[in-house]
Amino acid sequence: MTIRADLHIHSCLSPCGELTMSPRAIAAAAVAAGLDLIALTDHNAAHNVPAFAAACRERGVAALYGCEATSSEEVHVLAFFEDERNAIAFGEEVYGSLPDLLHDPLGFGDQVVVDEAELIVEALQKRLISATPWSLTELGRLVHDRRGLFVPAHIDRASFSVWSQLGFLPEDDYDAVERDHHPDVRIDSGDLPVIAGSDAHEPGQIGRRWTEFEGARPGFAALRTALEARKVHVVAHE
Ligand SMILES: [Zn+2]
Ligand SMILES: [Zn+2]
Repeated sequence: MTIRADLHIHSCLSPCGELTMSPRAIAAAAVAAGLDLIALTDHNAAHNVPAFAAACRERGVAALYGCEATSSEEVHVLAFFEDERNAIAFGEEVYGSLPDLLHDPLGFGDQVVVDEAELIVEALQKRLISATPWSLTELGRLVHDRRGLFVPAHIDRASFSVWSQLGFLPEDDYDAVERDHHPDVRIDSGDLPVIAGSDAHEPGQIGRRWTEFEGARPGFAALRTALEARKVHVVAHE
């Protein structure tokens, strides 16, 4: 089957994600957009993975679990895991590494954790927009140690990308790169497969960009196989 995957979605846990981005609202919007597979990628934390997994099961949409971590170079990277346990453990490692700077919800937006019934159970206190102390290479190792996929995010964007921070994509052990397909930015990513996601912060944005590939069943294994075969392509509706 042809699998349509939106591999970059923020929930209400991300300060930039609206409170309306509850896991159930995300799963419902994904089904409405005709997506088969969605990934939760909150900034530097994965506390909403259990509620997201439950919402996806309820709606019958396949899910990947992960986060969008910030390297010490202030480059955003996407990490995808097959199982909730590894995603949660990686999220805890990443959140635990952030500096003890108190988050200001009025200035930057809420950072709320919800349970499977979508009740708010916690508001994270540390600023999720901070950088971890780990370099790109170190983050990549941590992701691969947990058998995840490691993907520099929006490499051609004007902020928090390898292009904005370094000017090029350094040699490393990437499974793919994510591109916005910005027409004015040229950054070489060799023969790495290119993916895209909506980077949605509100439900209406889900599915505005997605990654398409062939597979027997939507999920982590099909994505990994397609990336290894370099057989993925990006579809954008903007
Ligand atoms: Zn980002
Ligand atoms: Zn993002």
